[in-house]
Amino acid sequence: MNTFADRVSRVKGSATLARTAKAGELRAAGVDVINMSVGEPDFPTPAHIVEAAVQAMADGFTRYTPGPGLPELRAAIATKLERDNQIKVAPSQIIACNGGKHALFNACMALFEAGDEVIIFTPYWVSFPEFVNFTGATPVFVGTDPDQQFEPLFDELETKIGPRTKGLILNSPSNPTGGVWSREAIEQAIAIARKHNLWLFSDECYEALAYDSPFESTAAIDSDYARILTFQSCSKTYAMTGWRSGYMAGPEDLVKAMSKLQGQSTSCPNSIAQKAAIAALLGDQTVVAEMKRAFMGRRELIVRRLNALEGIECRNPGGAFYVFPKVKPI
Ligand code: PLP
Repeated sequence: MNTFADRVSRVKGSATLARTAKAGELRAAGVDVINMSVGEPDFPTPAHIVEAAVQAMADGFTRYTPGPGLPELRAAIATKLERDNQIKVAPSQIIACNGGKHALFNACMALFEAGDEVIIFTPYWVSFPEFVNFTGATPVFVGTDPDQQFEPLFDELETKIGPRTKGLILNSPSNPTGGVWSREAIEQAIAIARKHNLWLFSDECYEALAYDSPFESTAAIDSDYARILTFQSCSKTYAMTGWRSGYMAGPEDLVKAMSKLQGQSTSCPNSIAQKAAIAALLGDQTVVAEMKRAFMGRRELIVRRLNALEGIECRNPGGAFYVFPKVKPI
């Protein structure tokens, strides 16, 4: 007899976190390990962000905050979205969560349930299907073109959409491919979402790492379609993966629904990390450009060295810090 609820067996554990734990164990045992499983910047969190957190603690800012985040943080996110992404939203259309992952999870929980289908493009970030599985809905996979920055195979997409399809998850720049979709591809995805009245999740957690063209947010490309949800995070942009600070912008009623769920699970995001996030979003942005320059140099090196290997073909990823090479049989 199964002791645990069904939802536990519906979901796979995080493979990347398991590998990271293994790397930690090996390191503790004295083995020299390079952990390439979990996607995180190796830079320290910039000093002014750390200082804001230290100040928050010294000031006794160590209590619960409002469930969807501090009003100052939601206002800071609105300022950032307008400044960097040309997205105009009110703070009431924003929820701050414990990481971008938590925002995606909360949104899936608020929107999907058994009987629903959600489109995910392959190759995908390992957590996307699991968020969907957790809700009882079914992930439906659609292929992409590796020679075209892993943009969707739109003909296949049309055939996979049916009466049960409720959402579509877009992630550009992508984990794990580094692919950055063109404006045209995003416009086409929006048109399809509109036609079928789908929730369009735009996971933009690598927005600061688009190398070859300026990053454009999906919601800025079409500000009229109210079902576009923007997910961003401090994790990769400000080297803050452990702080757990991310957010979503979308319709106010969805923010309220997600806040209700969040209020009964984590109560609120961590108070100190919220102060740090305000410093990150409103403070000096040159740190972001410096880290991006370093990642671009690494992209050039790894793509060149991979292509020098027999049997490996590696396209330039347009963003993030991943490569997705083709391995040819020799
Ligand atoms: N989305 C993608 C595509 C990711 O790769 C990650 C982290 O690896 C996240 C979201 C979540 O990041 P966080 O929860 O640290 O904000």
